[in-house]
Amino acid sequence: MSIATQLPLDVATLRADFPILETTVHGQHPLVYLDNAASTQRPRQVIEALVDVYEHAYANVHRSAHYLAAMANDRYEDAREAARRFIHAKSAHEVIFTSGTTAGVNLVARTWGDANLRPGDEILLTIAEHHSNIVPWQQLAERTGAQVKFAPVSDDGHLLMDDFARLLNERTRLVAVATVSNVLGTIHPLGEIERLAHAAGALLFVDAAQSAPHMTTDVQAMNADFLAFSGHKVVGPSGIGVLYGKEALLDAMPPFLGGGSMINVVTTEGFTTARLPAKFEAGTPPIANAIGLAAALEYVEQVGLERIHAHELALTQYAHELVADLPGMRILGPAPEHKGGLISFNIEGLAAMDIAELVDQQGVAIRAGHHCTMPLHARYGIAGSARASFYLYNTREEVEVFAQALRSAIKMLRR
Ligand code: PMP
Repeated sequence: MSIATQLPLDVATLRADFPILETTVHGQHPLVYLDNAASTQRPRQVIEALVDVYEHAYANVHRSAHYLAAMANDRYEDAREAARRFIHAKSAHEVIFTSGTTAGVNLVARTWGDANLRPGDEILLTIAEHHSNIVPWQQLAERTGAQVKFAPVSDDGHLLMDDFARLLNERTRLVAVATVSNVLGTIHPLGEIERLAHAAGALLFVDAAQSAPHMTTDVQAMNADFLAFSGHKVVGPSGIGVLYGKEALLDAMPPFLGGGSMINVVTTEGFTTARLPAKFEAGTPPIANAIGLAAALEYVEQVGLERIHAHELALTQYAHELVADLPGMRILGPAPEHKGGLISFNIEGLAAMDIAELVDQQGVAIRAGHHCTMPLHARYGIAGSARASFYLYNTREEVEVFAQALRSAIKMLRR
């Protein structure tokens, strides 16, 4: 690690980039935004990139020869290159712009899945997956007669690797796992998962929604066959995301949506398919959002992903320290040194939603519910949980405000 990566973040300066953080909540409380696992906020640099493209460089891409079209096209393809660099892909052809992680999973399920799975084949997930990384596989299983299996997690939120290994067999065609659980915060042992999955002859789909914003992503180092993430969780626009796939796999897959841009030739008899990446980008793509995403990726790269991760880890540890001993507190997931920047919890006898509503009265934005992980909550015998999640612009003071708001909420609800 270089000296620069060890320096703490200059959070005050970073915060000044995010206009929305100046919001006053309910007319009197400074906003404490701790819902970053759901969606982060955007810095001026991203907002300005969006404004700039609409003011100076907007036209449809790919199909026109005029000045603005060439400009928009260049910026759109530059954005693809920025995304390629961000995930360390070999080729920009392996970077498909989608609307987000969910769209990436669905694309692979509908194309690779429909073309390759047969009755009796298996897809191995973990019980901690987001619905986005469960339901498209269940739909695929319904269409093909394949089966979805779930590797279990321990009481403290670690993936049980012996069980995972036992569930893998010669019928397993795909392993699909998140790098970081959006509820437990657990950082899954991707290296071992990759080794086991590939040794069993399965492909590896990585759901990087909760890691791409917070730690370095290197698709070649992790030897992922597919990987997806969302722009809105990495200070980028919503409605844009990236699907990575190894070129040979993407080449062999049938197209997903049909329409403009994804074709080579269309006749009354049929069509031929365009080359990568156009083959998977039918219709007018989210042009400005892709350009905004590139600005976002450059922003977090400049801040430094290792520093972001270290900062969040420190905040998460501090949050654990401040709230772990509150009466009735049950924190989900592993000890703070083993996880990403979030803390999910329940307070015995109290509804998570009531807690979230009361801390919101103090200006603290957290989330309550099942967080799109119903099977995981069922595993722990609970319907939902509350979750505070941190990002590069959060401060120790905000963690203190959160802890204090939580204390008051508990007192009020127990009255
Ligand atoms: N996977 C994980 C782990 C997530 O946390 C999320 C978003 N909460 C998703 C997938 C889905 O992302 P999106 O809604 O942006 O498609």
